[in-house]
Amino acid sequence: MKYVNQREHVVTLCLELSRRGYFAGTGGNIMLRLDSEHVAVTPSATDYHTMSAATVCVLRLGDLHQLDGEAAPSVESGLHASVLRARPEIGCSIHTHQPVASALALLGDEISVPSRWRPTLGPRIPVVGYAPSGSSWLSSKFGHTVHPDINAYLMYNHGILCCGRDSAAAMKALDDLEALARSLLDQRISQHAATATPAQGQALLRARSALNDRSTS
Ligand SMILES: [Zn+2]
Repeated sequence: MKYVNQREHVVTLCLELSRRGYFAGTGGNIMLRLDSEHVAVTPSATDYHTMSAATVCVLRLGDLHQLDGEAAPSVESGLHASVLRARPEIGCSIHTHQPVASALALLGDEISVPSRWRPTLGPRIPVVGYAPSGSSWLSSKFGHTVHPDINAYLMYNHGILCCGRDSAAAMKALDDLEALARSLLDQRISQHAATATPAQGQALLRARSALNDRSTS
């Protein structure tokens, strides 16, 4: 089997993301660059706890032709490929439905990133308009939004995508995006609480405590 270490690394990353609550069920996928022409991607709809290196797919980046892997590649392969083709320095792309940042993706507002998170995330977090999961329409929308300085993207009504020069950098971007999302939602709750009735205030306090309980880092 070729690229054994990198394919095992994809499995390890999936288990870690699942443990942190970023990958729930089979929702979430990863693309890892193997060399200038090849990538490894998670198999489609596979339980992370039964995934093995042999089921991780090896694809040609140029046309996504499958060269190895006992399962079909993730339906989001085209989405990840649009990032890796546009940015040769990127080694890893991760798509998740992580809880707090995905809540921000429902609001659909672009985020200006405070300076403490800019080294990992970039100056802003754009919103990619909604298109069905796995569609070429979604990858094409993504391809138009990808920017060299931006490592985190909200996917409207769906989830998020983060990327980095390697898997550690992409994982750090996921963590920083989740922390930023938690801080922004917390601010919104405080603003609403200032003008709320006592009953609404109680509900907002409960929402804030649920938000802070979701801390996974
Ligand atoms: Zn998804």
